[in-house]
Amino acid sequence: MGTASRTLDHKHITTMPTGADISLAIHTITGSEPGPRFLIFGGIHGDEATAVEAVRRIVEAVDENELKGTLVAVPVSNPYAYESMTRHTMQDGLNLNRIFPGDAAGSLTEQLAAALVEIQEGADYFIDFHSSGLYSTVDYAYVHSGAEILARNYGTSLLYHHDPYSGSSAEMMLSAGKPAMVSELGGGGQLTTDFLDRSVAGTLNVLRAVGMLPGDPVDPPEQKVMTKLVTLRPTTGGAVISDYGPETLGTVVPGGTVLGRVVNPHTFEVMEELVAPFDETIIVLTREQYTRCAPGDYGFMVGDNGSVTSVDAI
Ligand SMILES: [Zn+2]
Repeated sequence: MGTASRTLDHKHITTMPTGADISLAIHTITGSEPGPRFLIFGGIHGDEATAVEAVRRIVEAVDENELKGTLVAVPVSNPYAYESMTRHTMQDGLNLNRIFPGDAAGSLTEQLAAALVEIQEGADYFIDFHSSGLYSTVDYAYVHSGAEILARNYGTSLLYHHDPYSGSSAEMMLSAGKPAMVSELGGGGQLTTDFLDRSVAGTLNVLRAVGMLPGDPVDPPEQKVMTKLVTLRPTTGGAVISDYGPETLGTVVPGGTVLGRVVNPHTFEVMEELVAPFDETIIVLTREQYTRCAPGDYGFMVGDNGSVTSVDAI
């Protein structure tokens, strides 16, 4: 038995024109016994503060004296996007989760990706924590082939089976043959306590399942694996008047149901309706009653209940 420890390190990335140095904070919890190396990231998208807080609570919740192996956490993977509360990095316009493995000689976001890839080296498991942005709320996780142990034990009722996005952090791990999962929980300031509690409980359950924490994992709930998931994006800017808020997440509505309307806040004209596209449409991402939208924003995300399968079938 070794000595359990918790450390905080800063990985320097670059210096900005302001003179400010930018670094990534890395929390490392080392258990008293050897075991796997489990890596978690938060805040790859800067407008997903719920995911950043999930990572903080997970690090607080893990008892190093019970841990076998090492938990490594980067809570804010894109500090400038977090500062500006934007999905993309304002300094170079890039989406960090589409440009992995990055470039250590490139722009700010490219350098961040390259540094995060270095942190991924040697990791046995990986969860990337996301949430919805400032104006919407989401509830699902990705299930990738070979990574079922993560999605099963994390325990969201909705899973999405999909190839990892090209240039994503999850793709880096999966292409190296390591189980990786993306969590998409919360956002929009809605039901935040519930989503954070589920992020922590789900991760602790995964750590039990992979043998890093003592005790048996609890059995997952019945899980729907969606194979068809689409984003309903308003083509015009204005206000979204939503009839389907976060309390409707996971419910099924008939095709043709109007989920929300885009209203021109200047003229009050209804510009377009956001309509359930599938005969049985699962509500996966919602908007609060009144929110602002720009053309192409996330309006709603919906799954096809007719495409649903089980984890065992993928
Ligand atoms: Zn995200």
